[in-house]
Amino acid sequence: MYAFSKKSHPSKPVVQKYGGTSVGTPERIRDVAKRIAGQYRDGWTKIAVVVSAMSGETNRLVALVNSVNPDAPAKAYDMAVASGEQVSVALMTAALAAEGIEAEPFLSHQLGIMTDEFHSRARIKSIATDRIEECWNRGSIPVVAGFQGVTENHEITTLGRGGSDTSAVALAIAVDAAFCEINTDVDGVFTCDPRVVPDARLISDMDFEVALEMASLGSKVLHPRCVELGAKFQMPIVVRNTFSPNDHRRTRVMNLTDKQNLEAPVVSGVTLDRDVAKVTLFGLPFDTRLISKIFGAIAEAGVNVDVIVHNVTDLKSAGAKTMQLGFTTTTGEAERSISAIKPFMGNDTLSHTVETDCAKVSVVGVGMRSHAGVAATTFTALSDSMIDIRMISTSEIKISCVIDAAKADEACRVLHKAFISETHS
Ligand code: ASP
Ligand code: MG
Repeated sequence: MYAFSKKSHPSKPVVQKYGGTSVGTPERIRDVAKRIAGQYRDGWTKIAVVVSAMSGETNRLVALVNSVNPDAPAKAYDMAVASGEQVSVALMTAALAAEGIEAEPFLSHQLGIMTDEFHSRARIKSIATDRIEECWNRGSIPVVAGFQGVTENHEITTLGRGGSDTSAVALAIAVDAAFCEINTDVDGVFTCDPRVVPDARLISDMDFEVALEMASLGSKVLHPRCVELGAKFQMPIVVRNTFSPNDHRRTRVMNLTDKQNLEAPVVSGVTLDRDVAKVTLFGLPFDTRLISKIFGAIAEAGVNVDVIVHNVTDLKSAGAKTMQLGFTTTTGEAERSISAIKPFMGNDTLSHTVETDCAKVSVVGVGMRSHAGVAATTFTALSDSMIDIRMISTSEIKISCVIDAAKADEACRVLHKAFISETHS
C-alpha cells in the first residue's frame, strides 16, 4: 500500500511532516525542499507539508518567555512558543519556490485549524480544508505550521510539546490522505532505544495498539496523541528518516490484520521512561472515601498519576487497619501532588516519601494476550540481574516495572535480550 515510486503514487493526497532536526538549518530546509520538488515532479502533486520549529527553537522560546515572566498568561505564552513554526513555514515555502515549486504558507488561523481553549495542551476540534484544496487545484503545495491552533475567539493555542505530529495526522484525516508521513531523524520505531540497546531493530510494521502503548510508555518517536488520532480514524502513519530516505527502512503504523497480529512477536518492544517519581503515603486510616479524596485532589491539581499500589495493614496491637498508598507521577509533579493532599490530611500528620530516583521499563506486545509466562520471564530477567522491582503494573498487552533509575539501561538490555534478541536473531 505504501511505496514511494513514480508508478504507484496514490490518487489520494499525502501529508508529510518534517520535524525540528529535518528543518534545523538552512541547508536542511533546502534539501527537504529538493526532495519534495522531486516527488512533485514524479507525480505526487497532492502533498501537504507540515513543519515543526527549527530544532532547539521551541526550547529557546520557552526559556525566553519564562525569563520575562515565569507565570506568563497562557495566551501570551502560546503566542510566543508558536512562533517557531511560523518561521519554518515561511522558510520552507521560500525553499520550495527556489526549486520552482509554487507553495503557499499557512498559519493555523489562516487555514482554520480550530482548537479548544486549553492553552499549551489544546485539542484540535476541526480543520477547514478549502484553502488546501484550492492550492492543489492550482498545482501549489500548502505548507502548514504544526503545533499551533486557534480558538473561536482568535487566540493562538499550542497542542503540547511534540504536538506537530498530531497536527500532521489531524490534517491527513481532514483531507482524507492515503497516509501521513512523519519525517524525522531516525529510521522509525525501534524495538528499544538503540542508544541504550545497540542491537535494537527497526519495527517495520506495527499495529496502532502497540504503537500507542509504546508511545505512551516512553518510546519518544511518535507523540501519543497522534497515534491515538491515527487509530481512531484509521489513518496509517509512516515514520521515515529525512536524512536517508529509503522505501524499506521505515515503520508503518496501521491496523494489522488478525493474522498479522498472530504472527507478531510476543513482545514487540521494550520502552523506558526515565522521568518517574514514586510517592508513598504511610499510615492512612483505612477508608475508601479517603482514596477517592486523595486522587480527586491530585487530579484537580492537574497531576497525572500512573502506577498505583495500595496495601492494607492490620495493626493487631492498635486494633485498627491502616493503608499505605503508593503512586507514580513525573518527577516535576511529585511535590505538587503532596501539596494538593496536605490541606485535608493535616500538614503534620501526613507521613510520606518521594523517591525521584525511579524509572519505568515496560515490555509491550499484542502476542502477550495469547502467551503465558511473559510476566514470569520479565521478573526472572530483572531479578537475575539484581534489579529490584518497586512497583508493577500490567495491561493485556504490557508489563511495566518501576525500578531504580541507575539500573534503567541494564534493565532494558536484559529484557530486550530475554524477549527480542534471543527469539528473533
Ligand atoms: N516545536 C514543538 C516542540 O518542540 C512542536 C514539535 O516539534 O512537534 O515541542
Ligand atoms: Mg517530535
